[in-house]
Amino acid sequence: MYSIKEIYKTIQGEGAQSGQSAVFVRFSGCNLWSGKEKHRDDAVCKFCDTDFVGTDGVNGGKYSIETLITKIQELWDSEEEAYVVFTGGEPMLQLDQKLISACKKVNFITAIETNGTIKIDFDIDWICVSPKAGSELLVNKGNELKVVYPQDEFDLKSFETLNFDHFFLQPMDSEDKINNTENAIKFCLKNPKWKLSIQQHKILGID
Ligand code: SF4
Repeated sequence: MYSIKEIYKTIQGEGAQSGQSAVFVRFSGCNLWSGKEKHRDDAVCKFCDTDFVGTDGVNGGKYSIETLITKIQELWDSEEEAYVVFTGGEPMLQLDQKLISACKKVNFITAIETNGTIKIDFDIDWICVSPKAGSELLVNKGNELKVVYPQDEFDLKSFETLNFDHFFLQPMDSEDKINNTENAIKFCLKNPKWKLSIQQHKILGID
């Protein structure tokens, strides 16, 4: 059984697939933070803006492969191939070959948003890695690398040797958001391999 915080259909707001309709499957749990505020200062990843604790979100719960596929189909509600984003928390703590194979059997297009600390040894159609300072990056190829900015220890130029099609810089959504955005824009202007990723869903006020 998979522990899932929430499942919902929305428009992808970030990165190279911005604007794409998708069913988001948010797995519970992360390996870089417990998700509890009392642990944030001691966590590897301190800037998380996502609630991934438990299974109490919209359509959250414990799912088998079959019940999860059915729920995704129900929410997708279209004749076209479903586009499914597995996210979290850290989806690689639970996502496995069996679930991906079942998705492919029903012609889902599969995508993952991962922190890149757990190797992916099965075939996902779209891999988005968002590395976190202080953790070891084990997924060094994929479709897009999306770096939340700034993270002090990162030498952004060193990421450019990795095997990704797109390199995105996404301003951190913190008290310093305006500064972070200005600095991210400056970096992208100087380093055109990098594109700016804005969290459009927050601007639009959608989940
Ligand atoms: S790795 Fe991602 S899900 Fe985990 S705490 Fe950091 S931002 Fe949140």
